[in-house]
Amino acid sequence: MSLLFQLGVGKREPLKLIGCEVLAGPDPSICKVKGVMFSGRREFLMKELGERTFYSVISKLSSSVMRIAMHPLAAEWYDFSAIVEYDKAIYENCSEQHPHILYYIGAASAELGLSRVFQKLDAGELYAFLQRLTQFHEQYQRYGYLELERLENGARMHYHDYPCYSPIFCASGHGFLLEAIMRHGGRDASVAETKCHCRGDGVCTYELTWR
Ligand SMILES: [Zn+2]
Repeated sequence: MSLLFQLGVGKREPLKLIGCEVLAGPDPSICKVKGVMFSGRREFLMKELGERTFYSVISKLSSSVMRIAMHPLAAEWYDFSAIVEYDKAIYENCSEQHPHILYYIGAASAELGLSRVFQKLDAGELYAFLQRLTQFHEQYQRYGYLELERLENGARMHYHDYPCYSPIFCASGHGFLLEAIMRHGGRDASVAETKCHCRGDGVCTYELTWR
């Protein structure tokens, strides 16, 4: 279970979905995400929220997205619009009980890639992990690139050149980064998306701070 789901979001601000979305850019062939994102969601829903919740969510999906959600192939590429449709269904189904459900989805993805939990802050390992995210970005999304800016007691992650975007997807990215800090032993983990493609900024920038 992710630390974020286990410990809850505490006093964090309510999740806000602000801005507009573009589901397929001028070149739809690059607006694709890796199937492992779908497998992670399936596992999270089944394991943490129960089989009934999973089936209730997927019953809301179009037939093509339902097929992917039922039997995701981890190494396959799927349309960005499919993951957004899936996450909207999860949000509509679960946000009353779990207002930060989109953060938990992202946190579950981070958990998959980070089995080890650090008891004390290991900032060196955390920066190394964030750096690896920039190198492996293209293995998870066929579009955009990621840049890490190192700060004192923090970092900025800049996601550039997104032809497709949605506040729903950005919210799960927020949860992913929170979990990454927490698993590396960072206390008072905080993430703020200060710039966003959905708000017309031409970049999604997340400010990460920890102690
Ligand atoms: Zn964004």
